[in-house]
Amino acid sequence: MPIHVDYLVLGLGGMGSSALYHLARRGLKVRGIEQFGVAHDRGSSHGETRIIRKAYFEHPNYVPLLQRAYELWRELEQESGKRLFNPCGLMVAGSPEGEVIQGVRLASRLYDVDVENVTSREAAERFPGFRIPNGFEVTWEPEAGFLYVEECVRTQIECAISLGAQVCLNEKIISVSINAESIEVRTETERYLAAGMIVTAGAWSSSCLQELHLPLEVVRKVLFWNPVRQPLYNLDAGKGCFFFDMPYGEFYGFPSLDGETVKLAEHTGGATVADPGNVNRELMETDAPAVSRFVSEVMPALDPEPARHATCMYTRTPDRHFIVDRHARNQRVVYGAGFSGHGFKFSAVIGEILADLATQGSTAHPIDFLSASRFASG
Ligand SMILES: Cc1cc2nc3c(=O)[nH]c(=O)nc-3n(C[C@H](O)[C@H](O)[C@H](O)COP(=O)(O)OP(=O)(O)OC[C@H]3O[C@@H](n4cnc5c(N)ncnc54)[C@H](O)[C@@H]3O)c2cc1C
Repeated sequence: MPIHVDYLVLGLGGMGSSALYHLARRGLKVRGIEQFGVAHDRGSSHGETRIIRKAYFEHPNYVPLLQRAYELWRELEQESGKRLFNPCGLMVAGSPEGEVIQGVRLASRLYDVDVENVTSREAAERFPGFRIPNGFEVTWEPEAGFLYVEECVRTQIECAISLGAQVCLNEKIISVSINAESIEVRTETERYLAAGMIVTAGAWSSSCLQELHLPLEVVRKVLFWNPVRQPLYNLDAGKGCFFFDMPYGEFYGFPSLDGETVKLAEHTGGATVADPGNVNRELMETDAPAVSRFVSEVMPALDPEPARHATCMYTRTPDRHFIVDRHARNQRVVYGAGFSGHGFKFSAVIGEILADLATQGSTAHPIDFLSASRFASG
């Protein structure tokens, strides 16, 4: 016998945990299905921390969504009593002609985001752990910071459950059948018939939404924790996150949470993954050199050799912007995909948007620029 549900959420990572919570908050009967456990380390939402910032160099259209995301993260902190967000600030450094510095300034100007320009003399005093390359300009966004990624996912699921949501863990969806009149999902053990569905399958989005032919590429990314040589990066000493637009790639990192290591990574690059369920998690010879070069050149108080690493995946669109839309065959199926390595900070508001789309067919949030139609040929 099939199980009838009002709403199914397929995948409970960053976006799905939020969608589940937002549907449950509206008093709806919702069930979330996840192939692994809560806040697991086999998708894209793990590894301690995620940067959150408002002066969005990727495109200023994201700023209104970020303003709402900030509100929602704060509300969730209040509702749960958990610490999810650490507003430690963010330093951005790059060439004044580069898209990053120019984009930070544009978003800040258009939306009045608080961003300070830091002179090179001030930068040397304020950020003694960094050797800023000649000719670079530096900005500081005091309201930026980081989210505790696993705690965010866990908290959204816990709050959703306390509001009546049902959660099925370690249950893999093996087929999704979407027609104009019906939505049927099969897992290894159950058959579900749903009135509405939100698909938030991360790196598995292409296989869950095969018929849409979404232009997604999954890439393998490695995070590193490098040993601290001098205590110049400590969170408890007021240090913040950093993002460097170097000539050979973009690098970012976090203040040291434990006083012993700094977590950092390259945002650019990454090899294509054929099967997200079978990504190589061992450190490969080609993984560390770019980050080690960055550390040697820019962070003299850090050891260029990592002490440990974690493997994660970006699901990229060709233009690196997200896809948030309704399914062409059945408008009660909505999805969020292709978060392109910068989506987590938005997950609170993406869940709200997906819940709007699934229940009302539209949202008041300005998301036209995230429509799948931008990739339609002809
Ligand atoms: C190394 C790294 C660093 C990043 N840094 C930042 C950052 O600093 N700031 C930022 O904002 N963003 C950052 N991102 C991006 C951000 O983390 C992702 O965009 C976001 O977490 C994606 O969430 P998601 O819900 O789409 O995917 P996921 O969190 O992976 O969730 C998808 C879920 O669907 C489940 N699922 C898939 N298929 C099935 C199935 N068939 N049956 C059941 N369950 C299924 C998966 O198991 C998974 O739990 C980073 C990403 C990585 C990898």
